[in-house]
Amino acid sequence: MWSLQAWRRRRTLARHPVDPQLWQRVRHRLAILDGLSAEEDQRLRESSVLFLQDKVLNALSGVELDAEARLLLAAQAQLPLLHLGDLNWYQGFHEIVLYPDDFLSPQRHRDASGVEHEWEGEHSGEAWQQGPVILAWPGVLASGGWEGYNLVIHELAHKLDMLNGNANGLPPLHSDMRVSDWASAMQHAFDDLNRQLDHNPDAETAIDPYAAEDPAEFFAVTSEYFFSAPDLLAKAYPEVYRQLKGFYRQDPLARLQHLHGTHPDYQAHHDQSSG
Ligand code: ZN
Repeated sequence: MWSLQAWRRRRTLARHPVDPQLWQRVRHRLAILDGLSAEEDQRLRESSVLFLQDKVLNALSGVELDAEARLLLAAQAQLPLLHLGDLNWYQGFHEIVLYPDDFLSPQRHRDASGVEHEWEGEHSGEAWQQGPVILAWPGVLASGGWEGYNLVIHELAHKLDMLNGNANGLPPLHSDMRVSDWASAMQHAFDDLNRQLDHNPDAETAIDPYAAEDPAEFFAVTSEYFFSAPDLLAKAYPEVYRQLKGFYRQDPLARLQHLHGTHPDYQAHHDQSSG
């Protein structure tokens, strides 16, 4: 079928070819892309180019944005969408603002007794409803490994969550998923995490205690883990992993396990860490 969208896509890709060596350097810096198939690799590269054409990256003074840095950001932004089809999942914003460092922003929190607290909080990222995504560049540079931290995926998960209203930990689910299954998996894990922290605020929790903040943060943090520490997430909260796998339609845990079994870097690492 003749499609204007497909034609635009082909034209954009033809006009903005990616130097294969440049893409290899980006791949090398982003371990979480290890194990993608050749077909996935190509799709990710193309969608990264389209993302950079579609969004404005506004780098504040102190952030050096060259072609490699732009691709580094775009590839991480596109990883969660890799199997979500051509729908415009990032339609809710067109600007990403990059700060040279963590920034202060006003925070508001209503406690259990109904009192509103306001304070200035230091943040490395923020996603505004109907507004830009803000990222501290050092946080972007620290992302991309299998360490359970990914600022880009965290903030963009908030954007996915906002597609159907305020961020509340429930993004628009696919028709083969059930809201009740999602809610019960998330609630159970959220309650478990909060119980541990109520018992001991310094508890060594399996995932970042920031996830216990509210359901929106729980979804953003578990999305980070899903892509960057799927083994930890699947072990701590298997039902959450299963729901996220249904939502993102990918299985990073299978990818990571395959790497451990086959990839020389990962086997070496595996042997060291078990020794
Ligand atoms: Zn957040």
